[in-house]
Amino acid sequence: GVSIKDLRKSYGSNEVLKGIDLVVAPGEVVCLIGPSGSGKSTLLRCVNLLEQPNQGTIHVGGFESTDPDVDIDKMRRKVGMVFQQFNLFPHLSALQNCTIAQTKVLKRSQADASAAAMKNLERVGLGHLADRFPDQLSGGQQQRVAIARALSMDPELMLFDEPTSALDPETVGDVLSVMRNLAREGMTMLVVTHEMGFAREVADRVVFMDGGVVVEEGVAERVISAPAHARTKEFLRRVL
Ligand code: ATP
Ligand code: MG
Repeated sequence: GVSIKDLRKSYGSNEVLKGIDLVVAPGEVVCLIGPSGSGKSTLLRCVNLLEQPNQGTIHVGGFESTDPDVDIDKMRRKVGMVFQQFNLFPHLSALQNCTIAQTKVLKRSQADASAAAMKNLERVGLGHLADRFPDQLSGGQQQRVAIARALSMDPELMLFDEPTSALDPETVGDVLSVMRNLAREGMTMLVVTHEMGFAREVADRVVFMDGGVVVEEGVAERVISAPAHARTKEFLRRVL
């Protein structure tokens, strides 16, 4: 799981995260919702240490972000991230996209890396397309390769930042169904999404952010069907 305490992040004088406290327990799925500019992506980028927080701590995989002895690279490996844009290497096959970080970063042998990659490509339903290159795959298939690539690093936590927002409508369902299966298998997941049907069905909890703070959180069904806060109501009225 992951534990975030009093996380603050500013860009110049613009404080984007104003003290976020959030725990995702092992095996839990949390959906993060909120208006554009509320700080959702910044929060994920801080959890993955792509951004340096100004204040606060992140615990993940036995690492603590403010520990002076922390190995940030090792800590980052515990966190898999899937972006709206899949960012696959265009000159590598699906299989190679899933092996390269295993061999280069984790120093696994080519055979071990390929075995893990194939297992995860099969997990996302793409074992039969392992030799295809990104431009020979649909957007939804590319995103499933990106998920398999992240899983191949054996993450403690998976972060998803609007993973279906850039997809053609007909491929969204396949990606959501892969994510639903991961959730059922017990993967710990923090998912930024506008797919309220997915949030209602798959998430254990929904967290609503606005203006860099957590405004409301609770059991998914309760937050979505009976929001307590006026800002949550207003947001849901626009997205539902
Ligand atoms: P969206 O739903 O549109 O993806 P979001 O909730 O993910 O929005 P963020 O991308 O986290 O929002 O942005 C929060 C705020 O931080 C915005 O005001 C944005 O302009 C600002 N911001 C984000 N990244 C940077 C950056 N690298 N430099 C300066 N400002 C930034
Ligand atoms: Mg965003």
